[in-house]
Amino acid sequence: MSAPCTVIELPELSGVSEVPSARLEQLLAAYAAAGRRVDAGLAILAGEVERRSAVEHGHLGLAQSSGDRTADAFVSRVTGESGASARQLVTVGTLMDAAPPWFADVAGSVRSGDVSVGAAAAITQGLGAPSPSVSPDALLDAAQQLLDAAATLPPEKVARRAREMRDDLDAAGVASREEALRAKRFLRLTLQADGMTRIFGMLDPEQAALVTDAIDCVTAPRRNGPRFVDSAERARVEALEKDPRSTEQIAVDALVEMIRIAGTADTGRVFGIRRPSVRVHVDARDLTRGDGAAHLEGQSAAVSIATAERLMCGGYQPVVFHPGGSLDLGLTQRLFSERQRVALAAIWGGCAVEQCDRPPSWTEAHHAHPWKHDGPTDIDNGVLLCRHHHMLLHNGGWRIHRPPGRGHVGWTMSDGRRTLPLVTKNPVRQHQLARTP
Ligand SMILES: [Zn+2]
Ligand SMILES: [Zn+2]
Repeated sequence: MSAPCTVIELPELSGVSEVPSARLEQLLAAYAAAGRRVDAGLAILAGEVERRSAVEHGHLGLAQSSGDRTADAFVSRVTGESGASARQLVTVGTLMDAAPPWFADVAGSVRSGDVSVGAAAAITQGLGAPSPSVSPDALLDAAQQLLDAAATLPPEKVARRAREMRDDLDAAGVASREEALRAKRFLRLTLQADGMTRIFGMLDPEQAALVTDAIDCVTAPRRNGPRFVDSAERARVEALEKDPRSTEQIAVDALVEMIRIAGTADTGRVFGIRRPSVRVHVDARDLTRGDGAAHLEGQSAAVSIATAERLMCGGYQPVVFHPGGSLDLGLTQRLFSERQRVALAAIWGGCAVEQCDRPPSWTEAHHAHPWKHDGPTDIDNGVLLCRHHHMLLHNGGWRIHRPPGRGHVGWTMSDGRRTLPLVTKNPVRQHQLARTP
């Protein structure tokens, strides 16, 4: 093992605010070059830490006896680098200690400061090891091309190109690498102290393609600017632009909505007989006076009575505690039946709010006259609303107004200042109403 260099000379930086831009670029390049040589030294040292921490040393290994679980953790602690950077240093340092012939030039280029540790890690990890279908010579040749590319490309692009070159060299290995990636997929939900739940996980490429595209469909107008296809799409784009939610909030709302819809459409294949459902626990006295707190089963944070009412209205299971200890699971009179929902879907054809485009599958059946005030669960009292418009009614203080004696025609919802017409979206029904004098 030899040191990459003994002295690194760096240009003076005093008066940097005055230097011409061409000189600024030179300075930046000089410091970056020096940084690569320092990184090369760090990598050599990290590789040595790894060697002294190898499994055969057990608890006597350097990292282990220093209280770190791995060489990566040791390097991260001492250098202050992130875990991922420390891992790269260890990987590349190990390579520099004993490079296989096909990666000897990569190791040499790191040592001389011609290529960064990040690019070297990208090349070696992307190209992998020789196999029956990939010869050492082919890897040597590919590594050479990638070293040239690394002069102008950032490590993440080098990494992608390295993976593509490996795929080209090794068509037979594509399936096994795909399988290796698939094995890394997971999803974990962790309840936080404040009542929020953190989602943490990895999607394999195939899953990511589907999930990413679904989220993109919902949020695309926010990111790419509007593309008007037809008037319905234009209305959706405009609504999304005015939407006060952040793009990330829209994305997570859409994901949750997809799960809810999947729950109603599932035939037992994914969820089995226990469909995803939420039980809403509430004290009857709080429900009656419309104030207080309710709880969703399994969640520590309270929700408002308005939210509890909306969830019950939308089909979640109420668990109402009465004074004296009796429980009311309020099933029969409260929920619209499957047949009633079919009828409501035909009557309204989607979210009833005129400018809303949500189809029936995205809607919840709302009691126009609230069921807790003895509003009946029958079709005459039902209207379909998407979650957003349902929230306006229960959480935003809006009310539904129905002109008497006109069936489902002429309904509006209002908060006293604005009024939204509630209309059918079903073309057959529109046609029928147009014919009726
Ligand atoms: Zn409702
Ligand atoms: Zn709506």
